[in-house]
Amino acid sequence: MAIERTFSIIKPDAVAANHIGGITAKLEAAGLRVIASKMVRLTEAQAQAFYAVHAARPFYAGLVKFMTEGPVVVQVLEGEGAVLKNREVMGATNPEKAAEGTIRKTYATDIERNAVHGSDAPETAKEEIAFFFSTADLASLAR
Ligand code: GDP
Repeated sequence: MAIERTFSIIKPDAVAANHIGGITAKLEAAGLRVIASKMVRLTEAQAQAFYAVHAARPFYAGLVKFMTEGPVVVQVLEGEGAVLKNREVMGATNPEKAAEGTIRKTYATDIERNAVHGSDAPETAKEEIAFFFSTADLASLAR
């Protein structure tokens, strides 16, 4: 499988609960490498735009409120089959359905406050990375 990039957010619940390190350790243990990372506080407009695909869903307003309640860590992850690998390590959206050892099983509270975001496909990953990191940012971080 090819080396890919994906995009991850450590959400406000997990940052507030001091789980940045625990979550990142699980990502690294799965073979993913953090190649860009920063802590940011999303504005309401940013959260609305990032989750625009869910604008018609009943949970949208609550999701935007949650994602802006405190700082998040946005990260670009790289590795073999990174998109799928990250989704596997994250676990199911609803932590009650997430497999043992996954990030959401370990750190999520409920279906909304579920600790992490991860891109669902390579195309989405590209868009989500570009939402937070410029090409110049990424180039300056190349090893
Ligand atoms: P993901 O790709 O696993 O993050 O799931 P989705 O793209 O379907 O949903 C985006 C985010 O919206 C989730 O990670 C949750 O934070 C939230 N969410 C999804 N489904 C629900 C729901 O049924 N109720 C609530 N309150 N939040 C939800």
